[in-house]
Amino acid sequence: MKKKKRSFKYKNIFIVLFICALIAFGVIAFIPKKSQANKMIDLSNMNVEQIKEYAKEKGLKLTIKEKHHKEIAKGKIISQNIKKGVEIKKDDELIVIISLGKVDKNLYKKYKVDELGNVPIMMYHGIHNLKNDDTAYIGGNVDKSGYQRTAEAFRKDLEFYYQNNYQMIRLIDYVNGIIDVELGKSPIILTFDDGLKNNILVTGLDEEGNIIIDPNSAVGILESFKKKYPDFNVTATFFLNGELFGQPEYNEKIIKWLINNGYDIGNHSFSHSDFTTISSEKVEEEIGKLYNKLDKIIPDKYVNVVALPFGSPYNMDHPNFAHILKSTYNGVTYETISTLQVGWKSELSPFNKDFNPLFLKRIRAYDNLGEDFDIEYNFKLLEKTRYISDGDKDTIVIPKEKADSVYQDTQLEIIEY
Ligand SMILES: [Zn+2]
Repeated sequence: MKKKKRSFKYKNIFIVLFICALIAFGVIAFIPKKSQANKMIDLSNMNVEQIKEYAKEKGLKLTIKEKHHKEIAKGKIISQNIKKGVEIKKDDELIVIISLGKVDKNLYKKYKVDELGNVPIMMYHGIHNLKNDDTAYIGGNVDKSGYQRTAEAFRKDLEFYYQNNYQMIRLIDYVNGIIDVELGKSPIILTFDDGLKNNILVTGLDEEGNIIIDPNSAVGILESFKKKYPDFNVTATFFLNGELFGQPEYNEKIIKWLINNGYDIGNHSFSHSDFTTISSEKVEEEIGKLYNKLDKIIPDKYVNVVALPFGSPYNMDHPNFAHILKSTYNGVTYETISTLQVGWKSELSPFNKDFNPLFLKRIRAYDNLGEDFDIEYNFKLLEKTRYISDGDKDTIVIPKEKADSVYQDTQLEIIEY
């Protein structure tokens, strides 16, 4: 009996010790939790109401977007822009994408989905801090040919693209056949040549050493649209020469800032040479030297795309063209996956069997009263020919009558309707 009693007593002590250990463990576990109070949590198992509550409690600016998804059920979370564990503070922007479930095929008809439609690649140069009335030319053109444009005209262009259901995508994604826009929306690509100061004018550094961007320069304007229309997916690719952005004290900071904020940098040759008037060795220097320069600032983070200075050569048969695409300069081998013309109209869908990424057409972003392939002219054409997305980047949805034009050797699922 005694023995039994004693073992019973030991058992009690053991239980008490176990409870103490549990409490201690709980307290320890609680301490780091408290210090993590301002870290983002995983929202994937919450519903919309709970997410709204959470955003309110943390003072986050919440945007909820809806998107069709072929695997994630309706009402469930597809993604959150701030990852779990990332430090959050009041007024941070939280974007949560919620699934609308699978796309109903009837919606293809309703939205006239056509992923073999054309894509506009807009060509800009300078954006000048002027009003349209300040220039001697029409429609916000600063020069006769409209290569240089006013800030007022650029804002108007962006508003026009957004109101006409365009969403921006990265040029490099387009080349690689990744078109991630919402159901019923069309992709648009922005490019800027020449690395002009007014593309991203830096007026100084803040206390933390970050660049301060002039709100009336191109990127300043783009950033304001990013805030105004989060679903515009603002991005652009800047094609630079050896002077980069012409701001020696800030060039490297600017380039790194652009890469970190969803923009891309490409090659416009080291000294803006006409590739048809120089030797093939000189072409290699012009291309390779610029790639090497970018490699020192943003290794592997620039795009291997060349915007052809003066749009030259005008065709791929020119003997120098091969040297733009692939060669070696100073012992470093380069490969260009795409070149851009000084074009006049929209380009084919990357899923069209005739798509040629090596020589892409662009639209000159200027105003000429709706004539001579200006913005108005081209977007009128696009009303009948534009790419219209099914909202799923992993499928190619096309009207049956276009079945012969689709590129077959793809990993993506092709759906005809
Ligand atoms: Zn140029």
